[in-house]
Amino acid sequence: MSDTIEEIKIIPAFPITKEERELLSIVDDKESEIVDLLQKLVQTDSMNLSADIFVDKSEIFDFTKGYMDKAGFKTDYFKAPFPSGKKDEFYYNLIASFEGESKGKTLQFNGHLDIVPYNPDNWDEDTPPLGGVIKDGKLYGRGSIDMKAGVACQMMAMKLLKESGAKINGKLQMWFVPDEETHGAYGSKFMPQNHFDVINADATIISEPRISKPMQSPSIGISEKGPHWFKFTFHGAAGHGSWPKWKSNAINKAVRFIDNSKKKLKIPKIKPPVTKKQSLTMLKDRLGLEGLKEFRKFVPEKLPLDKDKKNTSNLYQTTFSFNQIKAGIKTNVIPDTCELEVDFRTMPGLESQDLIDAIVKYCTKLGYKIELPERFTNLQHSKSKFKDEPIDITMSIITIGEGSATNPDSEFGKVLRSSFEAIYEVSPIYSFATGFSDGGNMREAGMKDIFIIGPGGRGAHNANEYADISTLNDITKLYLLVAYRYLKL
Ligand SMILES: [Zn+2]
Repeated sequence: MSDTIEEIKIIPAFPITKEERELLSIVDDKESEIVDLLQKLVQTDSMNLSADIFVDKSEIFDFTKGYMDKAGFKTDYFKAPFPSGKKDEFYYNLIASFEGESKGKTLQFNGHLDIVPYNPDNWDEDTPPLGGVIKDGKLYGRGSIDMKAGVACQMMAMKLLKESGAKINGKLQMWFVPDEETHGAYGSKFMPQNHFDVINADATIISEPRISKPMQSPSIGISEKGPHWFKFTFHGAAGHGSWPKWKSNAINKAVRFIDNSKKKLKIPKIKPPVTKKQSLTMLKDRLGLEGLKEFRKFVPEKLPLDKDKKNTSNLYQTTFSFNQIKAGIKTNVIPDTCELEVDFRTMPGLESQDLIDAIVKYCTKLGYKIELPERFTNLQHSKSKFKDEPIDITMSIITIGEGSATNPDSEFGKVLRSSFEAIYEVSPIYSFATGFSDGGNMREAGMKDIFIIGPGGRGAHNANEYADISTLNDITKLYLLVAYRYLKL
């Protein structure tokens, strides 16, 4: 079975004009330059360990700034201070912009320069994480597809648009952030909180990867779920392991909490921003009926112990997964605490308080008294049953982001659609992601028209991650065309 499915060509509603063809043709000579740029980005380490461990990332920011300076953009650094208070501990946000002939709209491209950690031992010897090695049309390295490839494409597209001398109105802007991988405290949260006017563009394209096999053309990301990462600390009573305590062993409490959740934790249902039916229709339009059948059978490689069936229902509801647990000090000591970290992913429209109410009701069913962070209302407070009881569970927040969505039919959405169709000649697929990007933080801050579209590759957050070089040119053309169509005089 081939790893791609043929896509059905359409006639675009707004085909590329003669003038646009000339503009886009400059990209054709630049493929090796895009690859060079991506290679340099990959070879520059920009690891992001965690939101509270400072790792200097100034090298990649200085490189990116230097590149955009040279391309004739105005560049500005915004410093997000680290809580350590040390004066050399801060993360940069970089804004690179160029003003058109007269006032008008601002189009922004956004990308994160940070990468997740890597363990060189897990990577093939000939494709090390910081090597940027090119092999069989793929550029390997940590961050290659997530998301230095998209960053390289937007940098090249903007540089070429400036060089072309094409006349535009308004402003083109690029915003590079330092910490998408740890949910943006110093980037997509910091900038809206401290410099909202700087980053509040009329429309924003985030160049995260959006081509995944068996698809050949990208999807357009318009929505994502909200991460609600909570830690539940179960309190129990210690004791001698030779005298078991079934109800007050903190591990047993956590296990009971886990075990009943699938049936009894009732989270309100919300209509997804892209329904299953809409997804199928869009897939059928792109792949045809036969292609759709193939697509439904397509199963990416599986781990030997993976017993879960291919299941799309996770996409259409709020989900939770128990992903970290810590307890116990010794084989013969009954643990009095157990910490459980849970990854909830909420549907757009489900408020944090709604989710928390569901959790509190669930705890009440189990007979557990739960304590919440102060900013939330606790339904148990009205129940006299728990009034004088000790606390069984303390809940704390690791991170919270709301689910969010963008209207694909907005003014900019239409320009993006027409440009997409003109470049790819296939019908668009709008996607709803289970994972978060900086787009969620931006929408939560009140920014409008946030879209995600970018190149293809594989292995984000995994060993032997790569960007598919054959996808870079068209993405660069798309960025160039959409900017030109949106801002042209
Ligand atoms: Zn990313």
